[in-house]
Amino acid sequence: MVPSFEELGLSEETLKVLARKGFEEPSPIQAKTIPAVLTGTQDIIGQAQTGTGKTAAFGLPMIELLAEKARHVQALVLAPTRELAIQVAEEIHSLKGKRQLNIIPIYGGQSIGLQLQHLRRGANIVVGTPGRVLDHLRRKSLKLDKIEFMVLDEADEMLNMGFLEDVKSIMDQTNDTKRIMLFSATMPKEILAIAKTYMGDYQIVKVTEGALTVSQTDQIYFEVRHSDKFEALCRIIDVEEGFYGLVFCRTKNDVDEISNHLVERGYDADGLHGDKTQPLREKILNRFKKKVVTILVATDVAARGIDVNDLTHVINYALPQDPEAYVHRIGRTGRAGKEGNAITFVTPSEYSKLMTIRKRAKTDIRKGTLPQVKDVIRMKRAKIKNDVESILADRPQHSYFNLAKELLDLADPTEALAALLQTAYGDELDESKYVEIDQRRFVDKRGKTRLFVTQGKNSGMDVNKLITLIKSLSDLESHQIKDIEIHDKFSFVTLPFHEAETVLSHFKGRRRVKGAFVTKAKEDGRRSKESGRRSRDGDGRSREGDRHSNKRAPGKKQEKRGRMG
Ligand code: AMP
Repeated sequence: MVPSFEELGLSEETLKVLARKGFEEPSPIQAKTIPAVLTGTQDIIGQAQTGTGKTAAFGLPMIELLAEKARHVQALVLAPTRELAIQVAEEIHSLKGKRQLNIIPIYGGQSIGLQLQHLRRGANIVVGTPGRVLDHLRRKSLKLDKIEFMVLDEADEMLNMGFLEDVKSIMDQTNDTKRIMLFSATMPKEILAIAKTYMGDYQIVKVTEGALTVSQTDQIYFEVRHSDKFEALCRIIDVEEGFYGLVFCRTKNDVDEISNHLVERGYDADGLHGDKTQPLREKILNRFKKKVVTILVATDVAARGIDVNDLTHVINYALPQDPEAYVHRIGRTGRAGKEGNAITFVTPSEYSKLMTIRKRAKTDIRKGTLPQVKDVIRMKRAKIKNDVESILADRPQHSYFNLAKELLDLADPTEALAALLQTAYGDELDESKYVEIDQRRFVDKRGKTRLFVTQGKNSGMDVNKLITLIKSLSDLESHQIKDIEIHDKFSFVTLPFHEAETVLSHFKGRRRVKGAFVTKAKEDGRRSKESGRRSRDGDGRSREGDRHSNKRAPGKKQEKRGRMG
């Protein structure tokens, strides 16, 4: 039985925030971590991936326990990349409610002057990448000698990116009395060694992974930006004859928003979530069973009670929290020997999570292309024809006959009929009225991934060997493997985005292939340039600077984002 947020011992203020955010019930990692931090005294090791709700798992109890209005840094969260640092800072900020806590992200790539300003004004929770945090410690602009919490987020990623020494060095500059929470998707021995050295008495919080079996359902994913999801949903519904499906969202607010939006567009849709009263829920479910409502938007919680057998579609409008939830969701279609379709929307940043789900659920989820506007129009045209034909077959009402004759005297029959269709169907067949979904941009932006390989000339790596290695881990042809750079101790290579993800999936949990380890070349650290710190590898290049040699300039938008508290 999943406990409620109330049962986890959270304050009224936090419960209000959660209700406002539309979280219905704790995710598994939250259900275990929150009470452990709130009522216990131990350090925590949590095995959880991004997307499981781990930020709130450590963020909520931390917010609850920190005193307000303190004038020093009370908690430090270390994250491997600037994107994650920003995301975590934003999530914690959104959870703090009315509490007076300043949450500040600090990361390489953002102007250090701006960060100095923010730190001077007072930070309570600092969320940072290791390189930049060390910089501030050296400049004495950041003091960590009175912190109550230290969180290592995505510890295995920090390890993969070579931040181990930096993390240790930061740990050494903090007070012994803090509580440590370490989150990691995998638990390689180096992570457990950190725990042993730096943690006191600790508790391991793990979400158990049961056996997964996937029903016989055609599983497709579509790459869509967040802002295009609604349009994509409409297209999928439109091209299907007799769409009858469940649309899964993450929060109650999303359920309300999307179901209302669908109704506004004229679909027979409704929404189901835990805030609706039991009688209302039953009424909605009944209407869904009778197919008065053919599209039901729901949260995972609300969908639990739904026992409908002949759905044509399950749509993951938002990715599920974990592989178990995925299997559970899609198990609702393709039942009783009928063919079902499971469609999952993924945004660029969620792609690797989908790959994890695919691997864990041992299932094939193939990539699909969204229906084009012309497909939608063709389908709608056929439907209108059908509607008219069936009315004709039933004989139209006699009461319209005289009016029909008058209209035919007034205008050309084709025009008169077109006018009538327009009153009935509006601009449904007008191509220019459809919003474009630009999938090309998606591919361009996420088209390529730069990879960092831990072997270079010194260990015998050369261009041919690197190509052979990549080919052995993917279906790539040589010409698709680009921009190879072989240095003394490491190498770089650029691959198409999806194939890079496939290659990377072979290196989960620090596994090596032919002695090499491959990870994403991150662009987080410009620390070396700014702080003048040189490489410990000793080949005259900066460690982070080298690893993150993607030359994209830091986003202007991100530079502006600074203080959050
Ligand atoms: P995280 O794993 O922390 O990156 O969280 C992934 C997403 O899930 C974020 O957008 C959170 O806001 C959301 N989330 C976290 N906990 C819950 C919950 N209990 N119910 C619904 N959404 C949640």
